[in-house]
Amino acid sequence: MSRSLLVVGGGIAGASAAYWAAQSGWRVTVVDAGQAKASEVPSALLNPVRGQSGRVPPRAAEGLAVTWALIRQLTEQGYTVPHGRTGVLRPVPDAATQARFQRNLADLPHEWWLPERAGDLASGWHAALHLPEGGWLDGAALCRALLAASGAQEVTGKVVAAAEGRARLADGRELRADALLWCGGSFGAERRLSVDASQIQSHRAGTLLTLAQAPGGQPLSFGAYLAPAAQGGVLGATFERPAAAWSPPESTLSSLAWLLDKGQRLRPLAGLDVTGSWSGTRLSGLRAGQVGASEWELSGLGSKGYLLGPLLARELVSGL
Ligand SMILES: Cc1cc2nc3c(=O)[nH]c(=O)nc-3n(C[C@H](O)[C@H](O)[C@H](O)COP(=O)(O)OP(=O)(O)OC[C@H]3O[C@@H](n4cnc5c(N)ncnc54)[C@H](O)[C@@H]3O)c2cc1C
Repeated sequence: MSRSLLVVGGGIAGASAAYWAAQSGWRVTVVDAGQAKASEVPSALLNPVRGQSGRVPPRAAEGLAVTWALIRQLTEQGYTVPHGRTGVLRPVPDAATQARFQRNLADLPHEWWLPERAGDLASGWHAALHLPEGGWLDGAALCRALLAASGAQEVTGKVVAAAEGRARLADGRELRADALLWCGGSFGAERRLSVDASQIQSHRAGTLLTLAQAPGGQPLSFGAYLAPAAQGGVLGATFERPAAAWSPPESTLSSLAWLLDKGQRLRPLAGLDVTGSWSGTRLSGLRAGQVGASEWELSGLGSKGYLLGPLLARELVSGL
C-alpha cells in the first residue's frame, strides 16, 4: 500500500509537491481554501536577476531549468500552460547599476544590449541586460495542470488545525495521511505548523493591470514589469509596504498611479488598453523542510515562486 500525503494549499508550492509526490508513488490529497492564491498571478516572470539590486539567488539557473522542463512535460501530456520562453530584458538606468548587475551574473547566460536594440524601450535607459533563459508563464494554468497531472484528490476547505498527519477543516471534516505538507502561502501563514520566531516572514501585496494587448514580445523589468500573458499582457509589481500579517490586498489610486508611472518609464503605454486588475500577496522568508514528526512545510517563496518553487518542492518531496 502506498503512503499518503496531505498537502495544504494548491498554489505553486503545493501543486508542484503534489505532482512530484504522485510521481514517486504517494497517494496525494490537496486541500485548498480557495482563497488569496498568489500563484494565480496572470503572468509571472521567470527572471533569475532580481529586483533593482540585480542579485541572482542561489540555484536560479537550476530552478529555471526545472520549471521549463516541467512545462514541457505537462505540454507533452496534453495540458495547456500558456508561456513564452522569450528571454527577459532588464534595462538599467546607469553605468553603476550595470556594473552592480554584472558582478552577480557569473556564468548565467546573458548579453548586454544597447537600448536601441530593445524594441519599444522608453528613452533614458543606459543599457539592457538580456537574459535568454528567462520568460513568462500563466501561473494559474501551471498550477491547474500540475494538480490534474498529479491525479491528487482535491478537497475544497479551510484547515483550522493540523497536527500529526491530521487536518481538521472549518466545516468539521477531518483528513488523515501519513505525512502532511503545509504550503499555505501568505493567506495560510497564521495557521502554519511551525512557529519559529527566528525565521521572520513578511507579507507584501502587489497588483497587476491586465492589458488587452501584449506590451512587446518579451518581458521588460525594472521597478515594475511589463509582460505578455495568455491574453494580451500585464503591467505589475509587488510594491505595497511589507506587513507582519496577511490582509485582503487592495490597490489604492496612488499605488496604481505609481505602477503606471513605472510602466511608462519602461515603455510608452499609449495604445495599451487596461482590461482589469489582479492583486495578490506574497510571503517572504523561505521555510522548506520538516517541522514535526510527520509534518513538512514549503512556504515563503517571496517573488521567486515560479523560479524556485518546483525545484524546492521536488527536493522536499524526495526527502519525505
Ligand atoms: C503581484 C505579484 C506578482 C508576482 N510576480 C511573480 C513573478 O513574476 N514571478 C514569480 O516567480 N513569482 C511572482 N510572484 C510570487 C508568487 O506568486 C509566489 O511566490 C507564489 O505564488 C507563492 O506560492 P505558494 O504556493 O507558496 O502560495 P499561494 O499561491 O498563496 O498558495 C497558498 C494556497 O494555500 C491555501 N491555503 C492557505 N491557508 C489554508 C488553509 N488554512 N486551509 C486550506 N488552504 C489554505 C490558499 O487558499 C492558497 O490557495 C508574484 C506575487 C505577486 C503577489
